[in-house]
Amino acid sequence: MQINLTEILQLTGIQKNIPIDIEMETFNIAEQDYLIVEKNPFDLIITNMGDKELQIEGEFTIKLVLICDRCMGETPYEMNVSFIKNVNMNDTEESRVKDLNEMSYISGYTLDVEELIYDEMVIHFPMKVLCKDDCKGICNKCGANLNTTDCGCDTTQIDPRMAKILDIFNNSKEV
Ligand SMILES: [Zn+2]
Ligand SMILES: [Zn+2]
Repeated sequence: MQINLTEILQLTGIQKNIPIDIEMETFNIAEQDYLIVEKNPFDLIITNMGDKELQIEGEFTIKLVLICDRCMGETPYEMNVSFIKNVNMNDTEESRVKDLNEMSYISGYTLDVEELIYDEMVIHFPMKVLCKDDCKGICNKCGANLNTTDCGCDTTQIDPRMAKILDIFNNSKEV
């Protein structure tokens, strides 16, 4: 959704509540597409603070299907985002972009709501994703999901110095 800011900029103190329906169906980050399974409409509140400064705020919840870092299984994730942005429309677009490299959601006098939502989701994207705190991960021998199967592989930790000796032993065996 694109919002024209010209009207809001004409009157100091004016506040607009704009109902937003999030359009995106998937969220793309780091060359991965994540399915959005739930999203709720929310109000975007834009206030003219005077002197061509706008305050843009909103709050939304969105549910995604992420991938567990340990077991690679799909895991639902709820993202709660709330933001307040102050944008000085006196600035040229160039200096705005320079000031805040996330400012790509405004070009000229048009606010791109999807771009704003996307930027906020990038900021709120979790550094680490786990399907559960005690996820057992996958077996590093056979790749089985250890949450659902007990593959029975011998995963005894080997002393790294010992492992080197075993490597040499195994390599010489192959020849
Ligand atoms: Zn997991
Ligand atoms: Zn295994």
